[in-house]
Amino acid sequence: MRIAIAGLLVTLAGLANAADCGPDKLGTARTITLKREAALYGALQHAPLPLQKNEIVLTFDDGPMPETTPLVLKALADQCARATFFMVGTNLEKSPELARRVVAEGHSAGVHSQTHTNLTTMSEPAQLADLRQVQAAYQTVFGKATPAYRFPYLAETPATLAALKDAGITVMSIDLGINDWLPEDTTEILVERLVKSLDTTGGGILLMHDVNVPTAKALPSLLKLLKQRGYSVVHLAWN
Ligand SMILES: [Zn+2]
Repeated sequence: MRIAIAGLLVTLAGLANAADCGPDKLGTARTITLKREAALYGALQHAPLPLQKNEIVLTFDDGPMPETTPLVLKALADQCARATFFMVGTNLEKSPELARRVVAEGHSAGVHSQTHTNLTTMSEPAQLADLRQVQAAYQTVFGKATPAYRFPYLAETPATLAALKDAGITVMSIDLGINDWLPEDTTEILVERLVKSLDTTGGGILLMHDVNVPTAKALPSLLKLLKQRGYSVVHLAWN
């Protein structure tokens, strides 16, 4: 019963937010629904997503984390923006309710390995075991199969690529990032990095980290910058 009430409150909160999603908000312009066909996306390593100029896909890695992910969710809700979260299996297992809250608030979720080890340092059997573990964690928490995967450190390996292809899991690399993993970074520094990355790439799949305290604090400013520069958010979903 408590779960049902919590779900209703999330739904009501969503409706309240929808009512506030005027033209002054960044918003979410459209959704791309990807098939479960093991495609590889992200211009840093693979084909670009079919995006127009000035479109941006918001992605967050390494969570969910109780200290920071709720701040990220609040900033996204305040701007009516939808994102994709690539979750680490051990964090999924530690915070399943928070993971389900991410999805209940309209975002999509993929995985980012079980242990966030650089797979190029692991044996093939260990890599495949890591993948099986995170697939099981995702299935347990969300009740469905893993749709998408981002490699830790974007460090791809032939064995894991082959296993992902066999499982029909989309590999999602990136187009741009803001190098947001230093605890001493300020909002000003992160905004400046986003400006430079946008100037270089013109948009695409943006990598950020919802476990990083400076990112969580800076996100309202980063989203406002995207709005000021005329970017449209494209949300990724899987059928
Ligand atoms: Zn990561």
